Amino acid sequence: MIKENVRRLLRELPEGVTLLAAAKERSADEISEAVRAGITIIGENYLQDTLRVINEVEDKAEWHFIGHLQTNKAKKAIDIFDMIDSVDSLRLAKEIERCSKRRNKIMPVLIEVNSGEEDQKTGVAPNDIMQLIREISSLSYIRIMGLMTMGPRFGDPEESRPYFRKTREIFERIKPLHLPNVEMKYLSMGMTNSYMVAIEEGANLVRIGTKIFGERH
Ligand SMILES: *Cc1c(COP(=O)(O)O)cnc(C)c1O
Repeated sequence: MIKENVRRLLRELPEGVTLLAAAKERSADEISEAVRAGITIIGENYLQDTLRVINEVEDKAEWHFIGHLQTNKAKKAIDIFDMIDSVDSLRLAKEIERCSKRRNKIMPVLIEVNSGEEDQKTGVAPNDIMQLIREISSLSYIRIMGLMTMGPRFGDPEESRPYFRKTREIFERIKPLHLPNVEMKYLSMGMTNSYMVAIEEGANLVRIGTKIFGERH
């Protein structure tokens, strides 16, 4: 089923939209099947989960960290992941900078926007994004590749639209500034129930779990 799900999604997505397989709680076999069907980016939420599967999955895909990264886990995350899609504080960015510099590796990241301004959610408030990005742009071992948002959860994906639109507006505002170390290539928005709306609002990276792997247990 995973294979068919991936193929169907890849056919269905418009050109220029990249599919990230959100693989939390999935086995190495499940992830491998997705990669064989054409997945090029795997997203993981936890370091431990990733360590459990990463060596068993074919070496053809990139690994992105999409969960909340604690500062004290940054070093490990840099060793394993190709991109950290959820940077949400200067403190975390500085730790990534410190560890990347030591490894002489430039770490690509996305900045996570708390587009719903929800207290319990991770991510940076929309009003604080510009300042954070300006600060991070002075760090030379981090490359900001774009923005990511979850947005509040709704049954009806139409309700997510304003949050995706808000994130897109921030993305478009930062892009023409051509800040150093800032590329603004990816706008990561949309999950299984909301990716169509997210794409309409400009997402070019969608993070899909359930629609690839089935319901989580
Ligand atoms: C689980 C997860 C997804 C995918 O969610 P689905 O609804 O299963 O598609 C996307 N992004 C993040 C950050 C996640 O944790």
